[in-house]
Amino acid sequence: MLKGKVSIVTGSTSGIGLGIAKELARLGADLVLNGLGDADEIEKIRIGIEREHSVRVVYDGADMSKGEAVRGLVAATVERFGRLDILVNNAGIQFTAPVEEFPAAKWHAILDINLSAAFHGIAAAVPQMKKQHWGRIVNIASTHGLVASTHKAAYVAAKHGLVGLTKVVGLETAGSGVTCNAVCPGWVRTPLVEKQISNIATQRGINQKEAARDLLAEKQPSLDFVSPSQLGGTVTFLCSPAADQITGTTISVDGGWTAQ
Ligand code: NAD
Repeated sequence: MLKGKVSIVTGSTSGIGLGIAKELARLGADLVLNGLGDADEIEKIRIGIEREHSVRVVYDGADMSKGEAVRGLVAATVERFGRLDILVNNAGIQFTAPVEEFPAAKWHAILDINLSAAFHGIAAAVPQMKKQHWGRIVNIASTHGLVASTHKAAYVAAKHGLVGLTKVVGLETAGSGVTCNAVCPGWVRTPLVEKQISNIATQRGINQKEAARDLLAEKQPSLDFVSPSQLGGTVTFLCSPAADQITGTTISVDGGWTAQ
């Protein structure tokens, strides 16, 4: 379905981004992996996807906290592959503290990586996608782009901002063959959430399994985690012809979290 398409997934060396990258490659898209991590591990991931799915996979270590680097990632991809069809803005970080104790540096880092990176990537990608008369921009927001939780001032602000950005870009590209949507996952068991599970375990003096159950019970009625490959499926659906008229909106994949 995606043979000949070129995709970038930011923050795809781990978790949700990696799940999305694998699903895009499985459907035939060439891939630019991005994210932090151990160089040998990343190379293993890169070669693994390339061999399994017979697509071209390259790694670009652009730092998503730097606007110019994000724009450089898009420019380098167009230069290397001659096109860019799918941009998944997924890189993200988390930090939790009450608002009065929230360190300003963490606020800025979360806004830069979780929101501004998507702005820079989209701004750089839209002209190329419009030229091709086809493009898919998928922003990985969160349930926290739709509702709030305590102690997540920066994250909730950034994700609400990302949903707003999605609507504007959906409007500005409407009718051009380019769509822009946000996916809003509930809990997914990745390193980002593992830290929060460990915090609950320590605070409540319980083990990891009990803490994971508590975390789900608090928010996610299905009492089950969303998987990275399910989110890969949501992204590839948005890249399918069935989704040609879906733009400027959000799709929740959250086990019922935001239905409450
Ligand atoms: P993760 O920690 O497993 O992965 C984050 C990825 O972002 C990694 O590849 C990391 O290297 C990359 N990254 C971080 N800082 C970067 C930087 N400065 N430059 C380049 N790459 C950088 O986390 P995840 O849970 O897979 O999160 C992925 C996205 O999904 C995030 O935007 C997160 O907010 C969102 N999300 C996660 C959940 C969840 O429950 N895990 C729920 C909703 C939304």
